[in-house]
Amino acid sequence: MKAKAAVLREFGKPLEMQEFEVQPLGAGEVLAKVVAAGVCGSDVHIWKGEDPRTPVPIILGHEGIGEIADLGSQKRDVLGRELKPGDLVMWERGIMCGECYQCVIAKQPALCSARKTYGISVSCAEPPYLNGHYAQYIHLRARCHFLKIDPEIDPKVLVPASCSGATATHAVEQADVKPGDNVLVIGPGPVGLYVLASCLNRGAGAVYVAGAAPDKQRLELCKQFGAAGTLNVSESTPEERAEQIAEWTHRLGFNVGIDCTGITASVGEFLQYVAPYGAYLIPGIATPVGQLPVSLYEHLARKNVRLQGVWVSDTSHLYQAIRLVLSGRFPFETIVTHSYPLEAANQALDDMATRKAMKAVLEPWE
Ligand SMILES: [Zn+2]
Ligand SMILES: [Zn+2]
Repeated sequence: MKAKAAVLREFGKPLEMQEFEVQPLGAGEVLAKVVAAGVCGSDVHIWKGEDPRTPVPIILGHEGIGEIADLGSQKRDVLGRELKPGDLVMWERGIMCGECYQCVIAKQPALCSARKTYGISVSCAEPPYLNGHYAQYIHLRARCHFLKIDPEIDPKVLVPASCSGATATHAVEQADVKPGDNVLVIGPGPVGLYVLASCLNRGAGAVYVAGAAPDKQRLELCKQFGAAGTLNVSESTPEERAEQIAEWTHRLGFNVGIDCTGITASVGEFLQYVAPYGAYLIPGIATPVGQLPVSLYEHLARKNVRLQGVWVSDTSHLYQAIRLVLSGRFPFETIVTHSYPLEAANQALDDMATRKAMKAVLEPWE
């Protein structure tokens, strides 16, 4: 059996369609038929060669949902349900070793010293070749964790949960958002929307979102998700924003800031608005983006403020993100704005790069 895939052979060059022979499955391995693959914002950086983890050639794509096509041996999902061909499932995008200090002692599998990610750090040059989601099938390793999904839901809606959503729930967990907290989300992309929803789900008192001019529609979407207010940095001065934030927080500042912009500039402005004993977290940085503009005395030391990075996620965060979507509390169906056949993967990457699409998905069987 053969499977079509979109392959990145050279950084910055268009992906090329290629056919691969599907390989036999080892014990515990699973062949999944990719129903929908997400085009993540970080795929644009990977495509340009900015992610130091990425080898070429590679089948891009680390987000997706699919059906069980074949099993190397009997397998259950994280809720103990036996997996059968035809089941709709989601799976953990990271390949963790389960044996290292981070996996076993620190219990931080997201930080596994041997962690690889389908579509980011596993080449398609060697068997089993099908190591990314921009393909008709993906060959999942023995340690992969699964969650069966009720086929009632449009599978596309869940796709962003597998990376943006999981990373967001990880950040909110690390931030330890408490009932009543005032939260500022910076960057209203898919990660920002999941952070917003996840904070409200934990009982945050109010969540505000800051974005820039290209985010205008996204800021509107944040209101549909329940944002208590938004700031457009392209249409206001720093003084106006300071005044607005003082009013929103009764001059206390935000208990938590979660910066989902993927750049460093926003930290220079928004870290100062974190309340004493608050936290400012930065998820979603996947490439070296340079130094942070931080006033150590004023913004951290003097206020016991915690400034923390958040690296990827593990299966528990994927589970939380999926449950968040399935709760029906938030209009997650509005995030996926564009879908394409596999052959149009280059167009999809372009539309993500120019922010024409909030979230693009590829449907390899359409
Ligand atoms: Zn991603
Ligand atoms: Zn490990």
